[in-house]
Amino acid sequence: MQTITTLAELRHALAQARKEGKRVGLVPTMGYLHEGHLALVQASRTRSDITVVSIFVNPTQFGPNEDLSTYPRDFIRDEQLCRNAGVTIVFAPDTREVYPTTFETFVEPGDLATPLCGAYRPGHFRGVATVVCKLFNMVQPDIAFFGQKDFQQCAVIRRMAVDLNLPVDIVTIPTIRESDGLAMSSRNRYLSDEERRRALTISRGLFAAADKFRSGERDVENLVAAAREQLSSVDRLQYLELVDSHTLKAAESPLQRPAALCVAAYVGSTWLIDNVILSFPAPDGQRSPGS
Ligand code: AMP
Repeated sequence: MQTITTLAELRHALAQARKEGKRVGLVPTMGYLHEGHLALVQASRTRSDITVVSIFVNPTQFGPNEDLSTYPRDFIRDEQLCRNAGVTIVFAPDTREVYPTTFETFVEPGDLATPLCGAYRPGHFRGVATVVCKLFNMVQPDIAFFGQKDFQQCAVIRRMAVDLNLPVDIVTIPTIRESDGLAMSSRNRYLSDEERRRALTISRGLFAAADKFRSGERDVENLVAAAREQLSSVDRLQYLELVDSHTLKAAESPLQRPAALCVAAYVGSTWLIDNVILSFPAPDGQRSPGS
């Protein structure tokens, strides 16, 4: 495995592979890796010849009062995890490599970036879209892997790739959870034991709603209420919304199209997000549309 910090070195390292017709997979991350990230790596390894993991805590996606300076970092450990997972290249540029002092051009996402996190984190998806677009241009992957845990991010990136004709396949991998259901997140390390127990109500709420949906409930309010009941022990519920999984607009009752129940909440001072997708059972032998 190679660790590379500059674009020049990266291009050099990938040029030979490309000449040999190798397929390049990219897993963009902000580091402090966990099994969720490693699932993306595994997916990349099965679908590409070369897996590049980028590790870059992207300042442009953090608001002024967010946790950029305290975002967890452990590069040595990340490198070791990548080596063990069979990563080919870790690309870990510093901030100036990605954003030279003259930098001034951004990717501006549209309506998909407005609801949910977009309503509470102004500029967040502009920062995400910009850095992912730059990483696509730096690595020029054939295929890139993202986690469903960041559901809105997946939607914004897919749309960006289509709108800007970026020649990369986008693959979304299901959320990897701890054995008790808590979605894995680099931010989980901020949680005390007591907060960790209360954070569990986030996934419990989502699963309660998903159970109701599986039993036939199609009323949006009832589904949201089923989740909200469980969520009483978070410190601040930022949003809990059932949205159409393609448009991210509020889902309409009765549900007839795949929807995503998305939540963001603070437990102590830790901000956590999670979601479940409510997709309709496919008619026999067919895949359900949009699931
Ligand atoms: P991050 O380092 O948090 O920016 O995440 C990097 C990538 O890993 C994103 O595509 C995330 O959606 C994905 N990811 C983070 N947590 C999980 C998880 N628990 N399961 C699956 N993918 C995840």
